[in-house]
Amino acid sequence: MNPYTNEVVATFPDATDAEVDRALDTAQAAFEEWRDTPLADRAALLGRAAALLREQSEEYARILTLEMGKTIAEARAEVGLSADILQWYADRGEGLLQPRVLEHSPESGKSAKILKQPLGIIYTVEPWNFPYYQVVRVGAPQLMAGNTVVLKHASNVPQSAAAMEKLFHDAGAREGLLTNLYLTRDQSGRVIEDFRVRGVALTGSEGAGAVIASQAGKALKKSTLELGGNDAFIVLEDADIAKSAEWGAFGRYWNAGQVCCSSKRMIVLDGVYDEYLERFTAEVATRRAGDPFDEDTVLAPLSSQGAADDVKALIAEAVEHGATATEVGEPVPSTGAFVQPTILTGVTRDNPVFRKEIFGPVAMVLRAGSEDEAIEIANDTPYGLGGSVFTSDEAHGQELAERITTGMVYINHPTGVKADLPFGGVQNAGYGRELLDLGLNEFVNEKLVVVSDIDGVF
Ligand code: NAP
Repeated sequence: MNPYTNEVVATFPDATDAEVDRALDTAQAAFEEWRDTPLADRAALLGRAAALLREQSEEYARILTLEMGKTIAEARAEVGLSADILQWYADRGEGLLQPRVLEHSPESGKSAKILKQPLGIIYTVEPWNFPYYQVVRVGAPQLMAGNTVVLKHASNVPQSAAAMEKLFHDAGAREGLLTNLYLTRDQSGRVIEDFRVRGVALTGSEGAGAVIASQAGKALKKSTLELGGNDAFIVLEDADIAKSAEWGAFGRYWNAGQVCCSSKRMIVLDGVYDEYLERFTAEVATRRAGDPFDEDTVLAPLSSQGAADDVKALIAEAVEHGATATEVGEPVPSTGAFVQPTILTGVTRDNPVFRKEIFGPVAMVLRAGSEDEAIEIANDTPYGLGGSVFTSDEAHGQELAERITTGMVYINHPTGVKADLPFGGVQNAGYGRELLDLGLNEFVNEKLVVVSDIDGVF
């Protein structure tokens, strides 16, 4: 479905059970070869995939804009970021997978080391908001580690899902290295139960995380979860307010507000609240909505009409419980999955929407009487993904960062999605980390090998 026109572009049948069985057989056969493939060859494959993404950036980007609706500029940026991640592992994966020689006492044996060995098939369930980046965030480290990947992507991005499989195929991967399947929920559960599947990585909502993690737990599989966020964007009184407002508008409105780590709750110190709100509102008003293929469009439609309707329902719920919703900017197009950019003020902490994640172009701006109160508001959420602090005193910003209960905090920036920074959260934002060595180590067997001729166990 093209969310700009709400027209069906193409339809894709669900996988048959026979296709699922065959895909698992093929992924396992690929694993048995790939685990013994030299690290340099694995790295070379990732490097070729990165190069292909860069060479064919426009073709890849256009698929994202067509079926997910993001602006073509943001789509190109996502393709570039995905290539960066592939290249990062191509360059560093071999070093990260070297055995770790342990320092140990003579009583522990002659030598001891930890090998990093692959586990098998990793099943990954991914969302539509960054259809390539999310797949690569798991796929690049896991393929580098020697695992194979079975992908169940979001139902509204079937062409992006197929493009990811094609990318690795074109890069020279044998069949089964990364397999895209259009799975039903029942089939997804069956894949998790299959003994050859050795790990499960999901990015998505809390609801999906709870289902997938419980299925994985029941089958005794390790899982990682990257779930929702309701990130705080704290503006202190000594911050550069003009710069904070610009970053705030970017942090909340990029990808049409459909970002897990976007700046959803702006917590502004009393002394600068009015100035911030005025400047922020003016910044948001500059965002022109329209055809995502048009180079001048800044604000895209949401990924689907259903997503747009959900966001509108949350705005209405917030208002019903006493908040003020201010619609900002030129009216958005009347067709397509658009939501008018909206700023919510007066959201009290007993408003049910205060603790809900709004996945669209809606910012909450909250007033804090002190820094302590700002931290308290920031931490008053079931989530714990990211957050930011704006201040002219970087050292003080870092002190406050230590008090924010999340997996990531940025000082003077809303968030960073980069190839060389890890990603992940705590509490209901999930568990585990992606990217860097942290992501690579999530699904490896850190196997101890000891050479010893000592007597006794202790
Ligand atoms: P979602 O409904 O949870 O969908 C995510 C994926 O899970 C899709 O592939 C979906 O498939 C699948 N899924 C859902 N329920 C399932 C089940 N019972 N069994 C098997 N698969 C299932 O998420 P969304 O609402 O589209 O995406 C937005 C959410 O993802 C937000 O909460 C956002 O914050 C979060 N997110 C987190 C991160 C992060 O890194 N922390 C990044 C991006 C997004 P179908 O499409 O077929 O339903």
